Amino acid sequence: MSSQQYDAIVIGSGQGGKPLSTALAQGGKRTALIERDHIGGTCVNTGCTPTKTMLASGRVAYLAGRAADYGVRTGPISIDLQKVRQRKRDIVEFFRSRSQSSLESTANLDLIFGNARFSGPRSLEVSLKDGGQRSLSATKIFIDAGTRSALPRFPVDDPHYRILARQRSRYTHYYFYIRDEVLGPMALCVGSFLPFSITCYLNGHHFIERELQRAGVEFRKDDNAFLWVADAQALQAAADRLSPQIIRQQLDHWTWVVGPKFSQKDRAAINLSRHYSLQQIEYCRNFIFRRNFPIHKLFQRSCDLGLFRLTADKLSQVFGFRLHKRIRGKLATVLEKMDHGHHVLRACGKNAVLRMYEKFSTFLRLEALSNNLKDFG
Ligand SMILES: Cc1cc2nc3c(=O)[nH]c(=O)nc-3n(C[C@H](O)[C@H](O)[C@H](O)COP(=O)(O)OP(=O)(O)OC[C@H]3O[C@@H](n4cnc5c(N)ncnc54)[C@H](O)[C@@H]3O)c2cc1C
Repeated sequence: MSSQQYDAIVIGSGQGGKPLSTALAQGGKRTALIERDHIGGTCVNTGCTPTKTMLASGRVAYLAGRAADYGVRTGPISIDLQKVRQRKRDIVEFFRSRSQSSLESTANLDLIFGNARFSGPRSLEVSLKDGGQRSLSATKIFIDAGTRSALPRFPVDDPHYRILARQRSRYTHYYFYIRDEVLGPMALCVGSFLPFSITCYLNGHHFIERELQRAGVEFRKDDNAFLWVADAQALQAAADRLSPQIIRQQLDHWTWVVGPKFSQKDRAAINLSRHYSLQQIEYCRNFIFRRNFPIHKLFQRSCDLGLFRLTADKLSQVFGFRLHKRIRGKLATVLEKMDHGHHVLRACGKNAVLRMYEKFSTFLRLEALSNNLKDFG
């Protein structure tokens, strides 16, 4: 079979193939574009376009469901999936046929439907889609054939064998907002992927509040501050009762309820265990005043002193780490003003912060927190 000679051949009409072949042809090169399936490749036919078209329908359904929130009246909403899919098909068909007719009308460009295979360094055999073979050759051959999944390089007997490789990616987290009998309100963020980590946010002040209620001790609480209590000793005793055992006992229950469930077989196959660790911690102390005036003065004076005195070397002493040039995180004392909020004096060392601010003009709050306890060894 005689081979047809071109200046350039492009295999595949995907994201690169179509514009490249058009540019070559328009640049005066006699070009062939070979496509074995649909013009446009994955993106137009099975990838970006169909998925984003369906997502757009989803978005409209969502907005329609929230119409009332925006002051728009609509009737009952229902989804016609057949129509959604037909819209997707029409758009894909429109993109594909528009690309195909633009390729077919390009001068110097031959669009060939078939499967290309190298028969030599600069020659190809094409099994044509409508039957028959063609031999083509060119000085330049460009491959835009996309990718496909590969079989494991070292096949094993186990048919369920999968190659697991470490990689960073996003995955869904489920949030549960729980009112626990002992610990009070808390939030659990459950990861939907191995190792199914669950992050729990709880507030010790809620535990104390519950303990006092149970003991019938009267108190007044605003935010995290106990402004008044009928029995100060009972307050201290309640605070002392919060222990790792209590937290573990409640978390064992909730992580079991909201966490992923495993079959007996899975349990037997993997060594399931639970491990708890503290990642963030926040201590706060509230100084309560009857009048706002002294709080404000005290806060102003603390800011004056803090900004001048809490220098880098002092902060390293306070947080207990050595100063060197490559410290990660922040190391500074700043006075910040939140939009429409109050001033906050912040002294930061790596991932830890000391904070001071006035709250509700009633108390002066001092907080010490760390977002990464590894900083402390
Ligand atoms: C579900 C899904 C959603 C996606 N969504 C997005 C998105 O929103 N945004 C984004 O940027 N990317 C998205 N992508 C990725 C994007 O589709 C691809 O990165 C892109 O299409 C790759 O283009 P390509 O030209 O390299 O390959 P392809 O588009 O795969 O094109 C290769 C072409 O070569 C043809 N071909 C292969 N071998 C031969 C041969 N021997 N002879 C002749 N022809 C041959 C194939 O038929 C195909 O048409 C998505 C992918 C998928 C699967």
